[in-house]
Amino acid sequence: MSARRRKPLPASRLEWFQGWGKAVGAAGYAFRPSDVAGIRHVLERARDHRVPLVLRGAGRSYGDAALLAEAVILGLERMNRVLAWDPTSGVMDVEPGVTIDQVWRRALPDGWWPPVVTGTATPSIGGVLSMNAHGKNNWVRGTTGEHCEELDLLLPSGEIRTLTPAGDPELFHAVIGGFGQLGIMTRARLRLMRVHSGLLEVQAVSARNMGEMLRLLDEAKDRWEYVVGWIDAFAGGRRLGRGLLHFARHLDDGEDVAPAKHLDILAHEPPRRIAGVLPVSVVPHILKPLTNRPGLRLINRVKYEAGRLTAGERRFHQSVVSFSFLLDAIPGWERIYEPGGLIQHQSFVPVSSAERVFVRQLELCRKAGMPSFLAVLKRHRPDPFLLTHGLDGFSLALDFPVTAGNRDCLWGLVRELAEPVVEAGGRFYPAKDAALPGELFRAAFTDGQLDRFARLKRELDPGSLLRSSLADRLLAPLQK
Ligand SMILES: Cc1cc2nc3c(=O)[nH]c(=O)nc-3n(C[C@H](O)[C@H](O)[C@H](O)COP(=O)(O)OP(=O)(O)OC[C@H]3O[C@@H](n4cnc5c(N)ncnc54)[C@H](O)[C@@H]3O)c2cc1C
Repeated sequence: MSARRRKPLPASRLEWFQGWGKAVGAAGYAFRPSDVAGIRHVLERARDHRVPLVLRGAGRSYGDAALLAEAVILGLERMNRVLAWDPTSGVMDVEPGVTIDQVWRRALPDGWWPPVVTGTATPSIGGVLSMNAHGKNNWVRGTTGEHCEELDLLLPSGEIRTLTPAGDPELFHAVIGGFGQLGIMTRARLRLMRVHSGLLEVQAVSARNMGEMLRLLDEAKDRWEYVVGWIDAFAGGRRLGRGLLHFARHLDDGEDVAPAKHLDILAHEPPRRIAGVLPVSVVPHILKPLTNRPGLRLINRVKYEAGRLTAGERRFHQSVVSFSFLLDAIPGWERIYEPGGLIQHQSFVPVSSAERVFVRQLELCRKAGMPSFLAVLKRHRPDPFLLTHGLDGFSLALDFPVTAGNRDCLWGLVRELAEPVVEAGGRFYPAKDAALPGELFRAAFTDGQLDRFARLKRELDPGSLLRSSLADRLLAPLQK
């Protein structure tokens, strides 16, 4: 942006925005247009006032992806219409603010399901494409971007380009996973996945340490649609990395005795009470006093031991909604981390180094006195996107509470966690982070990907109108 003095935007537009994890926030000028003409108008206003512009979907990124101090915050939540739905082909056209929740509710009764979903149904399609989100079936289905057939990209110049993977391979694969830095997605065409039931068959298995976790996850990846592991990050010594794994697959045609019932969205409403007694709304209040190191040590231990007792060969049926969006069952659970909030650090490591790096990471957390409160393991595959986090390997996602007292140490710990990942040729998923140092994120790209991204940025957004704290932190030197 030019160094000329900026004219202020109206103070009445100023709002306080936070990452979903509530550990980072910034005030910005809020605009929430409901159509493309409205977006163009906001672009012009930001340019006239020489103020950078941040795109914001549902605001579900934990960290600084949709924030920037004193920027225009272009909220896309009012662009939330399903534009077209073809229940014979499973193709859906959506505006960018449509959420995963809207997509599955529209599609499931017709026997379709989004091929890639995140751990909550609340993110927008623009947001998940911009981060190129992955699910528990990344090994089988890849990322959200691999199921997008076409998108409209509104450039900072006001021009709209319709992109397809085959017609515009370079730009398409850079925009998806491009952190909202090359243009504004105003429409996406998604291809959904055929399902015959709203139920999954699920199996739970326990593992005694990290090596066993990785082996079991790897063995299951070709036999099951979904594979995910939970780790008790408080356990040490021989038990370091112990945890529980869940494998799941959609029921085949003919396997569900009541498919119509289970394809109905009413069958998937989350229970309002736990065990028919306790209202879910009180759960965060019960957990809050336990959200400290001794409390979480106890919860992790009980969860592991109880899971170990019930795990095994037994298989059971579960709603695809409750399996996929486990965290949505307890609305507001993230409030247990208030007032400091939480961040997550998720690193991706090639198969051959995964055990060594993840053991090291868990040890570093223990040494720093900051064991992760929630640790999740997934299996991944490479994909064709320019700034991808995908590789043939595993990811370990580590949640950390942020407090006034631990902030500096935690940011230092994240640096320590990231170093062995880079040495092993790994990558990072920055949507839930806020602490990953830019030089380590950039060091993970060794084949000129960042130069290609910077060239596209200069071509499409020469004035660097589109920015965010995350992009400034991770990509800033490229944008100059
Ligand atoms: C409880 C929870 C569980 C999660 N589980 C997973 C998971 O399993 N896997 C996973 O991959 N992620 C997961 N996430 C992260 C989440 O999927 C991403 O952060 C996603 O980007 C959030 O989408 P959003 O609509 O909230 O986007 P925001 O957080 O608002 O924005 C994210 C990025 O998208 C950009 N953007 C938004 N709209 C557009 C647009 N129309 N055009 C261009 N750029 C745009 C923004 O500028 C920003 O860079 C989870 C998040 C939560 C809260």
